Amino acid sequence: MNLELSILLCLFALSIGSFVNSFIYRFPLIISNQDLNLFKPRSFCPKCKSRLKPFMLIPIVSYIHLKGKCGFCKEKIEISYLLNEAIHLLIMVIILFGVPIGINSIIVFILFSILYTQMVLDYKHFLLSISLNALLIITGLVLNYGFNYFTSFEESILGIVIGYGSLWLINTVFYWLKKERGIGGGDFLLFAGCGSIFGLFSLGPILLIGSSVSLLLFALNKRKSGRKIPLGTGLAFATITYYLIFRLFILQ
Ligand SMILES: [Zn+2]
Repeated sequence: MNLELSILLCLFALSIGSFVNSFIYRFPLIISNQDLNLFKPRSFCPKCKSRLKPFMLIPIVSYIHLKGKCGFCKEKIEISYLLNEAIHLLIMVIILFGVPIGINSIIVFILFSILYTQMVLDYKHFLLSISLNALLIITGLVLNYGFNYFTSFEESILGIVIGYGSLWLINTVFYWLKKERGIGGGDFLLFAGCGSIFGLFSLGPILLIGSSVSLLLFALNKRKSGRKIPLGTGLAFATITYYLIFRLFILQ
């Protein structure tokens, strides 16, 4: 393994993890039309709004150095900030062992990061980014068209259609029976994205693992989250698991 390139990719993973933190915090504010975007204003403490100094932006190190507290107001910083960065680093290390180093490591890592962001967004806010879903669908089509990167192009197309269609159908039947929406539209698109990347035959295992995880989370957080089931969280988690277990280390 090329050590210098590996270190560079790990630093890349940490910076993406840090960006994901900012995305997860800002996304609900952006869609509720508050006056900020992904890049402006620059990073600030969510509690006291002080603008962070450059050294406070260093992933993981700054959190440990500041002992998990804001450098200005000393309010506790959520542990999820540290976790998101650490998990990004960990997944890059796993990818370095399982995927030929280079552009492939970056492609697989970016897909992981998109799925991870959707997973956390849906868990924390019951929201999914349509742009990230669209990015998954398009990336799957591009990678599988001609390259057969994860699956054939035909299976990728079928994955999109059946992925979207199956959840739409379940939702329509549910609505017909119960007169209320069971599944959000973002979940249809996310599942279509998973199908686009890994193809038609990945949908079964992903839906099985995903719905089980979502129901478990629902049971654990019943009082907190009302009656909502974070299906997107389960689907994204299942897709990552499906890739790591079935495609990266067992079947290939
Ligand atoms: Zn602060």
